[in-house]
Amino acid sequence: MSMTPAPRDPKSPPIRINLLSDTQTRPTPGMREAMMRAKVGDEQIGDDPTTNELCGRVATLLGKTAAVFMPSGTMCNIAATLVHCRPGDEILAHPSAHMNTREGGAHAALGGFQITPLAGEDGMFSPQTLRAAIVAPNRYSAPQRVVTVEQTSNIGGGTVWKKADLDEIVKVARANGLVTHMDGARLMNAVVASGVSAKDYADGWDSVWIDFSKGLGAPVGAVIAGSNEFIGEVWRWKQRLGGAMRQSGMNAAACIYTLDHHVERLKDDHTNARALARGLAQIPGVDVNQPQTNLVFFDPSKSGVDTKRMISELDAHGILTGALDHRIRACTHLDVTAAMIEETISAVRQIVSKA
Ligand SMILES: *Cc1c(COP(=O)(O)O)cnc(C)c1O
Repeated sequence: MSMTPAPRDPKSPPIRINLLSDTQTRPTPGMREAMMRAKVGDEQIGDDPTTNELCGRVATLLGKTAAVFMPSGTMCNIAATLVHCRPGDEILAHPSAHMNTREGGAHAALGGFQITPLAGEDGMFSPQTLRAAIVAPNRYSAPQRVVTVEQTSNIGGGTVWKKADLDEIVKVARANGLVTHMDGARLMNAVVASGVSAKDYADGWDSVWIDFSKGLGAPVGAVIAGSNEFIGEVWRWKQRLGGAMRQSGMNAAACIYTLDHHVERLKDDHTNARALARGLAQIPGVDVNQPQTNLVFFDPSKSGVDTKRMISELDAHGILTGALDHRIRACTHLDVTAAMIEETISAVRQIVSKA
């Protein structure tokens, strides 16, 4: 499984349509302006005014008392489990969770934690599945410490957890002494798609973070929020992991800019994703998910063109996509227009009809 392509052949045509990931956005002129004007200080000692403003805004957005700026979402997940767990503890997560599949084994390597899979469709598990996985404390079993969800689920297809299911999971967790952690890399996509506020989604979750370098379109950064005590502990791990920064205000300014200018427009990404899926579904032999947000997964293999070949032929058209298992992932984002979607659909149709 890989979404990381090999370096491109320098003789390939330039990429005109970049659907590889919503991390591929470039800072906009307005964002660069905001970065240039940012007031800065020393983040490590709590003296960077723009970073402090960002953390305050995210804490409020998520309904928590404190927050801290992190270099990446991966470091948010890692610092959170390092705070919540002790070596030998168990984390309950969907098997496709980023934590389990794309963080280099960090939770085992750095924490000595084991991740127990909770299976379910589309990257999500049910409250019943969680309930069934709970074991009464005994000296044979690893202590169960954390339950985590991804809102939205990445490998699940950008799917949105229902608020009622999240509430029920919190209830089961509370009743069994589990800490709750939400990987909100694309939480704002869920908010825009569902109309449920970020605060409502985060309600009852002990730690929650959002990524600014995904669909929101900032170059760097994520913010994790929780109680004062939790964030104090995260700060220690951030220092230990080398994540404490200096004049991070320039990056924080880009993140603040996204909260002001790039949240509502996520709707456009969702519209483009639906249009892409609709167009692809009309091509014989192409299987495609019904995107709820900005991630489209399709499998062209029944058309006679397998995933690997489709990716390389699209590349020759100047269209970049990524492989995930047997499927192709195409992400819509800030730098993808409706016209590019139409062009992508025609390119896939042409590649299939030639085969
Ligand atoms: C991208 C992603 C992360 C990691 O965030 P980075 O900022 O890339 O480190 C974690 N969880 C999910 C669901 C993601 O999609």
